[in-house]
This record gives sequence, structure tokens and C-alpha cells, in this order.
Amino acid sequence: MTEKITFAPISYTGWGSLSYLTEEVQRFGAQKVLIITDPFLKDLGLTYRVEEPLAALGITTELYTEVVPEPPLAVGEKLVAYTREHAFDLVIGLGGGSALDLAKLAGALAVHDGKVADYLNLTGSKKVSKKGLPTILITTTSGTGSEITNISVLSLETTKDVVAHDYLLADVAIIDPELTLSLPAKVTAATGIDALTHAVEAYISKNASPVSDALALQAIRLISNSLRTAVFEGSNKQARTDMSYGSYLAGLAFFNAGVAGVHALAYPLGGQFHIAHGDSNAVLLPYVMGYIRQSCEKRMKDIYDAMGFSSMNLSQEEASYKCVDELKRLVSDVNIPSTLKGFNIGEEALEGLTEDATKQTRILARSPLTLEKEDIFAIYKSAFD
Ligand code: NAD
Repeated sequence: MTEKITFAPISYTGWGSLSYLTEEVQRFGAQKVLIITDPFLKDLGLTYRVEEPLAALGITTELYTEVVPEPPLAVGEKLVAYTREHAFDLVIGLGGGSALDLAKLAGALAVHDGKVADYLNLTGSKKVSKKGLPTILITTTSGTGSEITNISVLSLETTKDVVAHDYLLADVAIIDPELTLSLPAKVTAATGIDALTHAVEAYISKNASPVSDALALQAIRLISNSLRTAVFEGSNKQARTDMSYGSYLAGLAFFNAGVAGVHALAYPLGGQFHIAHGDSNAVLLPYVMGYIRQSCEKRMKDIYDAMGFSSMNLSQEEASYKCVDELKRLVSDVNIPSTLKGFNIGEEALEGLTEDATKQTRILARSPLTLEKEDIFAIYKSAFD
């Protein structure tokens, strides 16, 4: 088997790595820079940390603060139209996955025509065909890995879809854990479990390889060991740093191996009930893994060990059961509801959720256990209460 391995973009990691921003903007010779972020980060003063050093170099910056969490297609359409109308020569995304996904979309589609909808994976008719504006992504959450992937996720009426192409890969990613210090416990928890889900799903994916395995297992070690501390002691520098590396590695792992059943079932929760992406993954993670357990016992045993436990005296089957228990415990320890009912979802919604999840064929194809419609319904049902 041959495989394509992508480690782009150039990444700066570690405490204080935001300091590389100016030399990277200068490397592109940019003079008019669009900064795409959300209003909350402006209020927090994080945008100042990007604007100020660029202004000191005489570089003009413009703040675009219309990003909303789990951005709907319409927000993407408006931003792309805006970017096309103004002659920016570089785009910076600052924020969590929502801001970064929109920034890479704006950078790429600034040099294309047509609507964003035309480029959607499931229903679009156009393909991204050329490199867009230089793009620098600065993550402020430890979760999505969006800073290093080539996809932009958009919320549609009842589900999500993506614009995906290597031309959406950023030129530079900055993963500075210091920028995550202000993350509230709830967002730290949801985004942290999102990162863990990326690593777990990459490890059990049918597309896993020795490269993605190495990335995924180290991500699982770092995240399992540091998430509780990052949530309950948000100023802990070591925990924030480990989460930052963990989510970066998990991003690289899933970008190369793909995600699977958890994400396929989580997308409709985001689309229909506007549940944050991390929470959607978190509530489903133990149930999907419990359902597919038998198809990947050996890999679940490895995950159990990477989570900091020892499977030495356990059979593969026993370790895989314990792995599911520990995933459930971690989700519950960081105070994420462990049932769909806990998110105020009624049982009558399960049919519709199943309909939409079944459409995620590309993602479902990577599950080690084939998930048919009745399997998907059974998983939602088990996660219900
Ligand atoms: P987010 O970007 O929606 O941010 C969540 C909240 O946290 C927002 O209110 C934001 O203002 C706040 N926030 C962000 N950074 C902060 C900080 N440092 N301090 C205080 N508050 C802060 O959340 P997210 O989970 O990072 O991104 C979710 C989006 O990413 C979803 O749309 C999801 O589908 C997408 N996603 C994309 C990829 C990809 O590869 N492109 C992968 C997974 C998820």
C-alpha cells in the first residue's frame, strides 16, 4: 500500500510561538492583511496581540469579527464576498476551528468565482483549482486541528458539509498554548475531547498507517494525561502546553488517517441541535467505541495503555471494555453530559439524526465496523439516556 502523508503547513509550536508572526507576514511581503476572528476574542484583547506588532511594522490590518461558532454557510458566503471585494494580500485566522475554517475558506475562494455552496463536498459542482491568498492560522483552542487540515467545515440546515482541497492548507500555523489560557473550563473540556476523538478515530481508522499511529498514540497520551488539569486549573502552563501539542498531533493524525463513526454521528447533532462540535463528539465517543469495540479490540487495548493504564494482565477483550469505560469516565469527569437527553434531545429526534448520519458515507467508510442505518440508530438509542 502506498500513502500520501501531509505535514504542511510550516508550524510554530510552544509557549510564545506567536512571536514568529511578524517574520512570517514579512516573508510574504504583505502590506494589507485581513484578520478573521470572532467578537469575543476581540473583547478579550487577543486580537491586539496580532494587530499591534504588525502595525509597528507599518502593515495595515483590518479586523473581520463576524465569525460565529459552528459557522453556517451564509456566514462563509458573506466573508468570501467581502474578501473578494477588497484587495488583501494575506489572510490571518485567529481563534478556534470556527474562525480558522472561515479564514482558509476566504483565503482560497478569494481567487475563485461562484458561491461557497458551489464548492461543498456533498452537493457542490465546482472544484477549488488554484492557490489562494497566503494564509496564517493562529489557534486559540486545543481541539479541532483546523490550523493544519485542508478542510473548512460549514453548518447547513440539518447537518454539516465541508469545502476540502489541499489549496485550503494554510501556509503557516501558529500553535501557541499561551493563547489558550483564557479558554473557559467548558470550552477547554469540549475542545479537548474533540482532539482526543480525532486521535482515537485516526487510530482505529481503516486508513491508519504507521505514521498516523505514532501521531495518534502520542496525542492520546498527552491529552489523557493533561485534560482534567487544563479544565480545572486553567492557568496550569504544563497542562495547556500538553493539550496544545496533543491537539496538534491529533490533527496531523486524523488529517492523514481520517475520522470515522463518531464524527459521522456527531455532525447531525451540530447541524440539527447546534451542539458545539466538541460536545457532540464527546457525548457519542464512548457509545460509538462501545458499539464497534469487537472490530478493533487490539487497537482499543493500545488506546487503553496510551491513556495511562496497563493492560498487561488483561485479555484484549477485557482491555477494550476498560478502554470504553475510561473514555466514558474522562468525558464525565470534565462535566460533559453523557447522554443525548442531557443535551435536551428528545427520543423522537433519533430517526432524523440517523437519516443525516447515514449520508456521511465518506467518513463512515473508515469505520472498522461497517455501520449500516440500523447500527447508527442503535448507537443513538444507546446514547439517548
Ligand atoms: P470555536 O472556534 O467555535 O470556539 C468556541 C468558543 O470558544 C467561541 O465562543 C470562541 O469565542 C471561544 N474561544 C476560542 N478561543 C478562546 C480563547 N483562547 N479564550 C476564550 N474563549 C475562546 O470552537 P472550536 O471547537 O475550536 O471549533 C469548532 C468548529 O471547528 C466547528 O465548526 C467544527 O465543525 C470545526 N472543525 C473543523 C475541523 C477542521 O479540520 N477544519 C476539525 C474539527 C472541527
